[in-house]
Amino acid sequence: FVGCGKQDSNVIVMGTNPTFPPFEDIQGDEIVGFDVEISKLVAEKLGKELKIEDMEFGQLLGAASSGKIDFIAAGMTATEDRAKQVDFSVPYFESKQVIIVAEDNDSITQAEDLEGKKVGVQLGTTGDLFVSGYESDAGATIDVVQFDKGAMAVADLSIGKIDAVVLDEEPAKKIVANYKGVKLVEAPFIEEVYAIAVKKGNAELLNTINEVLNEIQENGTYDALYAEYFGV
Ligand code: GLN
Repeated sequence: FVGCGKQDSNVIVMGTNPTFPPFEDIQGDEIVGFDVEISKLVAEKLGKELKIEDMEFGQLLGAASSGKIDFIAAGMTATEDRAKQVDFSVPYFESKQVIIVAEDNDSITQAEDLEGKKVGVQLGTTGDLFVSGYESDAGATIDVVQFDKGAMAVADLSIGKIDAVVLDEEPAKKIVANYKGVKLVEAPFIEEVYAIAVKKGNAELLNTINEVLNEIQENGTYDALYAEYFGV
């Protein structure tokens, strides 16, 4: 599929980066996950067919602005900076950044302990922005190593090539379970909320998305999906 959402009014195009389980991930040749379920409900509300564009995370904002995609559902943190480029829906998920280290590492327990260390992040994410922009009062910084996928960072951590990884909590839990010798650090860290993004000024679509998000909170659908994807 080549993005043709604009010409085809029966189709609504979601842009995402499916390397972020359980929000979006590739299983077989299908993109599945919590964000996909919510997006299907948005498409249903609009009476349209959902198409999913698989893109680099860093290209999503530009694609929404240019109209290549209709909306972004990608575990995307609503930040002030991004809100200059797109309009965000009401929040639909509370998240935080977590630190992942080698199982036998007891010296990294908080953000300050990352100073001077080699820390892996997913390129262009809020974790990347935090680590790349980190500077202590004394001028200490973090040696950031950027990866296309969070899982690639954890793979390098598991073979000792880097000292830590900073990722969003839920994907971190899923990814850590797939690698030997790594663990999550239970440190209070940056808290954030995820929201769906549309092209600036697309109030009509944004209203529909907000309606769906509010409705599923009220009618139990959100809780059912939450239980299914986050196992609570
Ligand atoms: N929540 C993070 C961000 O918005 C990571 C999202 C992602 O990797 N899909 O930057």
